[in-house]
Amino acid sequence: MLGLIVNEKIICEKALADKYIEGKPMKIIRLIIKKYLNEKLTKEQVFEKVDNFMKEIYKDKYNKSYWKKVISDSINTVSKYNNYNLINIEKIDIYKEELDIIESLNDIRLEKLAFVLLIYAKINKIINPTSDGRININLAYIFKESKLVSDKKLLHKLVDIQYILTSKICDSTTMKINYINEEGEVRLTVFNLNDLNPITYYLEYKLNETYNNCEICASRFKQKSKKPRKYCNKCAKEIDKEKAKERMKNIRNFQ
Ligand SMILES: [Zn+2]
Repeated sequence: MLGLIVNEKIICEKALADKYIEGKPMKIIRLIIKKYLNEKLTKEQVFEKVDNFMKEIYKDKYNKSYWKKVISDSINTVSKYNNYNLINIEKIDIYKEELDIIESLNDIRLEKLAFVLLIYAKINKIINPTSDGRININLAYIFKESKLVSDKKLLHKLVDIQYILTSKICDSTTMKINYINEEGEVRLTVFNLNDLNPITYYLEYKLNETYNNCEICASRFKQKSKKPRKYCNKCAKEIDKEKAKERMKNIRNFQ
């Protein structure tokens, strides 16, 4: 889900195994610190581990004195967390009562939005069990995940009918989702929580659409024909390009 990390454990293990950090390193460094604190290493031991890891990444360009401060500060920040468990959310269960409330909106755009908000609230509840269920997510992310063009009027409507509670709607708003249940009869399970995938479970359920997981990038794509496809459009195009290159190479070799 955009704006939330649901698989800290996988991201952390991958960075350590590949000795590679994608994008900005701070988030990953904090995850690695959390992992080692969870394994009961002392702050000094954690420092040494992270320092070595960063050295392996930056090699000759490693600025020891700069990173010394960054790593020490991060260790101090992370050591104040309530717990050091790495988040690893594999699925989100949706209950019958929750789906009934969403479906009773009887407007597919509102339903999609309400479904995505519910997933955000449920993930948030797992990440912060002591929170009161409020979420604070960038609105652009919420609309993207809902596969909707940004339209605050839709959110206002959900506020009007008290599906969500919020003081005012700006670009990033704290909202409370009123139709989340603590327990119930599971009607739908969302397994693929990667960006932009959860909404496809609702579309499958509601519109009888069929989605497959791409064998390469694991994103879910709509199954349009009877013959099942293995790859999403993007990956299929990449494969075609590679095949074309191969063919050209063979032609050249033949001449
Ligand atoms: Zn793909």
